[in-house]
Amino acid sequence: MSILSKFDALARTFEKLGPPDANPLRVTFDKINSSTEGVINGKTTILLGTNNYLGLTFDADCIEESVSAVRRFGTGTTGSRVANGSYAGHRDLEKNLAEYFGRKHGMVFSTGYQANLSMLSTLAGHGDYLILDSDSHASIYDGARLGHAEVIRFRHNDPADLRKRLSRIKDAPGSKLVVVEGIYSMLGDSSPLADIAAVKREMGAYLLVDEAHSMGVLGAKGRGLAEHAGVEADVDFIVGTFSKSLGSVGGFCVSDIDGFDVLRLACRPYVFTASLPPAVIASTTQALRRLSEDQTLRVRLGENARRLYDGLRGLGFHVGPEASPIVSVEVDNAEIAVKAWNALLAGGLYVNLALPPATPTSRPLLRASISAAHTPRQIDTAVALFAQVGVELGIISPSSVPVAM
Ligand code: PMP
Repeated sequence: MSILSKFDALARTFEKLGPPDANPLRVTFDKINSSTEGVINGKTTILLGTNNYLGLTFDADCIEESVSAVRRFGTGTTGSRVANGSYAGHRDLEKNLAEYFGRKHGMVFSTGYQANLSMLSTLAGHGDYLILDSDSHASIYDGARLGHAEVIRFRHNDPADLRKRLSRIKDAPGSKLVVVEGIYSMLGDSSPLADIAAVKREMGAYLLVDEAHSMGVLGAKGRGLAEHAGVEADVDFIVGTFSKSLGSVGGFCVSDIDGFDVLRLACRPYVFTASLPPAVIASTTQALRRLSEDQTLRVRLGENARRLYDGLRGLGFHVGPEASPIVSVEVDNAEIAVKAWNALLAGGLYVNLALPPATPTSRPLLRASISAAHTPRQIDTAVALFAQVGVELGIISPSSVPVAM
């Protein structure tokens, strides 16, 4: 028996999704033409599944900063900051992030995943409690598993359930850390943060918000849901990523808490991994500068999100509860989802396929994510393709499609 035989069922599920050139989990981009267009299987394709919310992956200034940094500082740091030292760019980016969020402290990590692994496993230790929204991202669950706190889940986006669970442990001696996300990555719904913050205050807990999908998207300065909801003062830790609105890779945490810097020695996923390469730090720093000085991309993103959401909802697709840059269409079963995904791709549209158990409703999702860089025409083309494929596969009724489409 192979050491991998415990994965036989998973391997069968993977194979059943289709042959290599038609398997959604094996998609390969032959070429990337821009932040919204690529070439897949030789066909020019609209990219509608990238998390590239502000379209900054091809921003001329970000590219320039990145190229200049690689020439000056080399391709990599080749080590951890604790063992091998920081570059000035790491420190500057931390300072800029803290300033942007109006916080005293900032710390960058090699991925957003590692930011959550670090913060969750370290902030809450033996005798402490982690209280997680049940729809939390895998990096939050994995961070909880890496640490030693008792983990309690509350019903997704349900402040009353959070209150009930916190009141049971209110008098326990350990610290309580509540963790929510700004915008949830699968359905694009946002957390009822003002109510969550009120419960946190009442119960004397700490609050960490993962703004991975809401930074650059929500708030007058793009700082995320906490800014949008007017509750930044109640949020003790903001975690985020560079891999979405900022168009690169990496993660961060900002906070006002005294003694924050001790985490640089306590967080194992920070200590025992190589730090971000100079080119990534440089493009991220430029992207953050752009985000803090110019809100036009964020405004355009909002308009594009509304156009896609209204378009798909108007056709009768089952989409998430609110217009956000993540617009997911729920379908009945994996067979239809895979067929639809391939038909969209054949028509020149790339979206993500998400299958249970990775989806919150136990139904598959065709997950689209919109960018400020998409043109209205690209969005209308995408909606028209969804209409055609939706009717062909019986996901929507032909009567809900306007004749002109
Ligand atoms: N948090 C959330 C909510 C996410 O959706 C993701 C990734 N999609 C991460 C953290 C991890 O970020 P990264 O991919 O940059 O490591």
